[in-house]
Amino acid sequence: MSRTLASGKVSTAMTIANARQRAIAEGIEVRQVDGSSLWIASSGTDPQKAYVLNIIGGNVKNCTCRAGEFGAYCKHRAAWELAREAREESNV
Ligand SMILES: [Zn+2]
Repeated sequence: MSRTLASGKVSTAMTIANARQRAIAEGIEVRQVDGSSLWIASSGTDPQKAYVLNIIGGNVKNCTCRAGEFGAYCKHRAAWELAREAREESNV
């Protein structure tokens, strides 16, 4: 059985869940560039590569990976948000 939602927002929640799963499965790590709003996210697929996340107002503004350049919810963004949630939990 297949179901199509008219809103076109079908995939948003799934995309986020999927990106988070991949971030965890691929072991993507994020590090802040000291004293800046920039974070580096390791590539899940290429150990030689990393991408830059620009954090504005506590949210990921963009990522330099192919998906992130177009504003997609990429796995690097997912990794950053997971790390932020972990920090928030450890601060409680
Ligand atoms: Zn990315």
